[in-house]
Amino acid sequence: MEMAQNFFDWIEKKDGEIMAYLSLNKDLAMKQAEQADLKIAKNESVGLLAGVPLAIKDNLLIEGLPATAASKILKDYTASYDATVIKKLKSSGAVFLGKTNLDEFAMGSSTENSAFQKTKNPHDLLRVPGGSSGGSAAAVAAHIAVAALGSDTGGSIRQPAAFCGVVGLKPTYGAVSRYGLIAMASSLDQIGPFAKTVEDAAILFKEIAGQDSLDATSAEVSYGDELLNPKLEDIKKLKVGIPEEYFIEGLGQEVLEKVKEAIKIIESLGLKTKKISLPHTKYALSCYYIIMPAEVSSNLERFDGIRYGTRQKAENLLELYKKDREMGFGAEAKRRILLGTFVLSAGYYDAYYTKAQKVRRLIKRDFDEAFKEVDVILTPVTPTPPFKFGEKVNDPLAMYLSDIFTIPVNLAGLPAISIPVHQMSNVPGRAGNGQMFGKLPIGFQLIGKPWRETDILGIGQYYERIVRSS
Ligand code: GLN
Repeated sequence: MEMAQNFFDWIEKKDGEIMAYLSLNKDLAMKQAEQADLKIAKNESVGLLAGVPLAIKDNLLIEGLPATAASKILKDYTASYDATVIKKLKSSGAVFLGKTNLDEFAMGSSTENSAFQKTKNPHDLLRVPGGSSGGSAAAVAAHIAVAALGSDTGGSIRQPAAFCGVVGLKPTYGAVSRYGLIAMASSLDQIGPFAKTVEDAAILFKEIAGQDSLDATSAEVSYGDELLNPKLEDIKKLKVGIPEEYFIEGLGQEVLEKVKEAIKIIESLGLKTKKISLPHTKYALSCYYIIMPAEVSSNLERFDGIRYGTRQKAENLLELYKKDREMGFGAEAKRRILLGTFVLSAGYYDAYYTKAQKVRRLIKRDFDEAFKEVDVILTPVTPTPPFKFGEKVNDPLAMYLSDIFTIPVNLAGLPAISIPVHQMSNVPGRAGNGQMFGKLPIGFQLIGKPWRETDILGIGQYYERIVRSS
């Protein structure tokens, strides 16, 4: 309980500035913490996460708590059941501090699309924390949560993790149940952890993974002990591919240099690296911006002000729908609903949607071919370090480009992790002009074969041992 209380004290001190949380959950959290304490006092067996204070992205349902997806349309919505990941974390003993900010319905790369507030990057308050899970990433980076959950449809865990200098894992599609996640694009969405270390991310992943009868796309896989205790002799045998298409014009010089440093450190562990090619990478962004809005337009149909959402006054049903959706959705959600409805409409369906599905297949095939030669693939996470507020928000295309290195992974359903090239100081506090630790964080990405989270988490755990000791 003391730990939970300390975190609430910290939140009170710091979150006025960071704005990571949309709502806090002190009553339930203190009860959860008390239960964990009691069990420990009685020497009963407890879960891996007993008493551990977590932050949860506000598009995941926790029974009895608000779930807004940072949208006006769900401003007053309270969840009536627990998402499967929440159930699992509860039985592992976790404590939920509160719900974190995001881009509305997880659409965005800076958290500026939230209908409610702007979350700041704890390393530089003038910069964005990334998105869409910016609140979760910032909460972990600012030490106002031990770890957090987010969701990743095109990069929304890995990109904010890289911007905030923390670890973020997007699991293989189907490794974690999506039941109770407010859907954005169902064939791409996955829930995953944010943590300060790869080891902590592995623990959280182990606790939330597994088949669920409530999600037909969840798969029957089990992850063994090596997830948490990788052996160096196994890790050393892994071959790392470096795809030339990810080191192109437009990749910032600082990012390039840092990613090269990460490659050197990984080579120093004894792993072999090899240049590879993923030739269809250049089509990934266009392909994503057809498939994703198509699914968004369908998933967001349910928000009509009748079953969910705030209801406006209207003369008839059609006017009610129109008013609710007009008032309830922000500009980015509307843009994507329109785009999605267009690419799915008769006459355009084959030209856009079917074509994009075929391109998706080619992108997946590139990875299949590459994985015949290598075991994991190493790339940058983002083309640039965190950008400033307002820099891209009025230029959707520039904003979309910040996910160019993360999107192919979702299209192919693969697991991938974002790891800070350098470990951040663990000492909370801030040193002058908005800079928390001096430098802006930069991350690198490890992409694994399907169901081989063990490989990327294993390399990551040895990577951070080297970085921490140097
Ligand atoms: N930034 C990407 C988008 O705007 C990815 C979002 C996500 O992964 N939820 O679609």
